[in-house]
Amino acid sequence: MGLKIYNTLSRSLEEFVPMSPGKVGMYCCGPTVHDFAHIGNFRTFVFADLVRRYLEFKGLAVDHVMNITDIEDKIIKRVRENKTTLKEYTGKFEAAFCEDLKALACKPPTQIPHATEYIPEIVSLIEKLVARGVAYKAPDGSVYFSIEKYRGCGCKYGQLVNLNFEGMRVGERVSSDEYEKESVADFALWKARVPEDGDIFWPSPWGEGRPGWHIECSAMSMKCLGTSFDLHLGGEDLAFPHHEDEIAQSEGAGVQADGKPFVKYWMHGAHLLVEGKKMSKSLGNFFTLRDLLNKGFSGREIRYLLLTAHYREQFNFTIDGLQGARTALARIDECLSKLRELAKNASGGPDDLLLQKFSEALDENLNISGAWGVIFEWVRQTNRLLAENKLDSTAAAAALAAWQKIDAVFGIGVEKETEAPAELLVLLEERQTARKAKDFKRSDAIRDELKAKGWTIEDTTKGPRLKRI
Ligand code: AMP
Ligand code: ZN
Repeated sequence: MGLKIYNTLSRSLEEFVPMSPGKVGMYCCGPTVHDFAHIGNFRTFVFADLVRRYLEFKGLAVDHVMNITDIEDKIIKRVRENKTTLKEYTGKFEAAFCEDLKALACKPPTQIPHATEYIPEIVSLIEKLVARGVAYKAPDGSVYFSIEKYRGCGCKYGQLVNLNFEGMRVGERVSSDEYEKESVADFALWKARVPEDGDIFWPSPWGEGRPGWHIECSAMSMKCLGTSFDLHLGGEDLAFPHHEDEIAQSEGAGVQADGKPFVKYWMHGAHLLVEGKKMSKSLGNFFTLRDLLNKGFSGREIRYLLLTAHYREQFNFTIDGLQGARTALARIDECLSKLRELAKNASGGPDDLLLQKFSEALDENLNISGAWGVIFEWVRQTNRLLAENKLDSTAAAAALAAWQKIDAVFGIGVEKETEAPAELLVLLEERQTARKAKDFKRSDAIRDELKAKGWTIEDTTKGPRLKRI
């Protein structure tokens, strides 16, 4: 059976048929590196990783492009506030982002373009839009995209969202990168240099300035994947204005072959809430990945939890949910370890029935809860067969071979004996000292603190060591 996905463009489920057989060009809007990414951002990046991995499971070669937005309004503001340079500022957060992606076992994208390295492509795209009459230089020196001219050419503005043009005033302009749906207005492609920009500007045919956020993604995606490509992803908040503007700029430049769209399929991931509320620093429910790792959870547990909900459903992320993730993973790990013990050196082709059930679920617009349902039912049955001694080594090897293919999609890997972080090893030392001094109150308090962070103390012949709960 073929894969069906929900295409925001047609607002319907469609069979996924790549433009060139066997190959997929996929672009996912990357992070704006103005701060550490939060757990909501990572829901979207783990979703993109799942899509890529599942397309690969289906035998497709995926060119996965994720840009780094290293120049936009928020970044400029932060660079100014921190009295630093653009490169130094964004470099720090980009490095942190890549580390976090790795902790979540996301495959590195095949291409990672940076907006600041694509200024010539951006300028050339704006030149095409000006030449075609759908962009103009405004009195403030900036270049804007004209919605009216674009619509006048028979093009549709409002392909991903329904827009109301009634209140629209011709030529009304919006200069900031992020704006509301109510503002159907001409948006900035090139922003003329202003004193607040400091030394962040580039030359252009319209004077010194910098690109708007939306044009960056049009230029980078078309340069990396061609003017028409298969799949574009992002969080649901990006559908308007960011993705709508990307379509307008890319198709408005008239660079596609006749009848070809800029992008064939658009997928949008729903947002993540934390403890039932929109994340916000003032509510105390705002988590970066690092915050959660520091609480003692592993990247593997966080990835698992992010992968339990369907990508189009709003997801409520909770600390209790992370505890549940730990228990669920332990069930899978225990079953796999028994299978490994039984299989020893036996080999066998993968259990096709299990693979078939798994892909039947994911083929339905990535029905991940269906796929997990298949896995947990398999774990339950395998445990029963193991308990009744009804599995032989070949069957165990076949089950493990199927799991290997399944895990190439889930990416939750096998439990690793992870080394405890240095600060917890210091606590363990302190506990030993407290015990020697017969300060049991202190030693019990340390044990509880370690437990709260997900570690238990195990006595071994070499002395006590920390083990994950
Ligand atoms: P940004 O770095 O702000 O450009 O965001 C990076 C990605 O995270 C985009 O695809 C956003 O749509 C997505 N995103 C932002 N907030 C959330 C959230 N709460 N839940 C899921 N995705 C989000
Ligand atoms: Zn983008």
